[in-house]
Amino acid sequence: MNKVITRFAPSPTGHLHIGGARTALFCWLLARHYGGEFRLRIEDTDLERSKQEYTDSILASMRWLGLDWDGELAYQTQRTALYNAAVDRLLETGKAYWCSCTPEEVEAMREAARARGDKPRYDGRCRDKHLGPAPGSVVRLNVAAVMPDGGRIVFDDMVKGHIAVDVDELDDMILRRSDGMPTYNMAVVVDDHDMGVTHVIRGDDHVSNTPKQILLYKALGWDLPVFGHVPMILGPDRQKLSKRHGARAVVEYQKDGLLPAALVNCLVRLGWSHGDQELFTMDELIEFFDGTNLNSSAAAFDFEKLNWFNAHYLHETPVEELVRLVEPFVVRKGLDVTAEALVPMVALYRERANTLLDLADDMARMLCPTEAVVYDEKAAAKALTDEGRAQLRALHDVFAALPDFDPATLDTALNSYVAGNGLKFKQVGPPLRVALLGNQSGPHLPDLMAVMGRERVLSRLERAGRA
Ligand code: GLU
Repeated sequence: MNKVITRFAPSPTGHLHIGGARTALFCWLLARHYGGEFRLRIEDTDLERSKQEYTDSILASMRWLGLDWDGELAYQTQRTALYNAAVDRLLETGKAYWCSCTPEEVEAMREAARARGDKPRYDGRCRDKHLGPAPGSVVRLNVAAVMPDGGRIVFDDMVKGHIAVDVDELDDMILRRSDGMPTYNMAVVVDDHDMGVTHVIRGDDHVSNTPKQILLYKALGWDLPVFGHVPMILGPDRQKLSKRHGARAVVEYQKDGLLPAALVNCLVRLGWSHGDQELFTMDELIEFFDGTNLNSSAAAFDFEKLNWFNAHYLHETPVEELVRLVEPFVVRKGLDVTAEALVPMVALYRERANTLLDLADDMARMLCPTEAVVYDEKAAAKALTDEGRAQLRALHDVFAALPDFDPATLDTALNSYVAGNGLKFKQVGPPLRVALLGNQSGPHLPDLMAVMGRERVLSRLERAGRA
């Protein structure tokens, strides 16, 4: 087999969304599985809607997901000479022609065809006029010259199987607009050929473009790539996925504290399967993703599962890696902390958090200045009574006098304080928790206090114990 070359070709008219990310992931995996190349091309020919900030955002999302690309990043706006050379070649060989019909004339032709009950289309009236370039003129493909005997365009789609379209169905489509820019189909074919793309995987909103692109490959005498059109992603109610379902751009999932591994895992299962396996490491995905087992029916995005995957990966990801991921969230809260100091805190809380944002909240509760600890009203009313505060003042002195501040020492000290004073643990535990973190939840107290450190613990007991 030739070297597999795939590509992802986003238009920078918005951030990278779930659908685009899934397409990119499939293309990336196929290339990595076969030891090939994954190319990235920015389709920025729509000058009005394309923005550099979207390109930057798409690239950042790709990097965050771990989808690295090979070779130079390509921008279509920098490749117009290449497209024009191909259009010129088609003009020279009679496979394309100049057309001077105005958009209004073309619309009138379409209208007339509709009125006759025919498919709306350009009627080919400039085909044999042998016109040359002129302001306002476009270049069109001469379908009859490419396929003089008519017939059908057929291809075997990696996802949808055999597809056949009558050539009669296809218009003499525009290849170069009156402003000199190539149309989408023209640019894509030239680029895919030039980049040596062997597998074109994209959303099935493009499936009707593929026969047109195949005509162009034929007109230019180029070998066809393999095409694969992945079905759209639906919401949990099997309607078109939208914001209403909570679907957002990849950057927003990132901001919400999702782990890239969770999103990758969720995306890859939309239209691909490997037996019943649900959870995959990247290495497993690369090993298993060979272009088979792609499902042609639309898949529903499962937000519940995404959260479940995220909790799973929070528990699985090595602590050092989690620290690297959570640190920016902690810093954004205005807290000054080193990665080293975060390690024991992350280790203590990772089992309890569902997102990096949760984890950062937990870190912030431990790291904030004592005066910034917010007491939960109900918990404080119950636990910070006169008696509770008296316990905290006593515990302050007990903890201040300890030779060490490790979990075992703290555990013994706490238990002997409770037993030695004829108390029940529930007279001591709740006020202590509220003093430390402001509420009743959290890990085992000795573990928590050891991680927080003596200075912080004493300062919090001092504040909460004040009469
Ligand atoms: N730029 C196109 C899009 O964003 C991609 C087309 C393709 O992959 O061929 O929909």
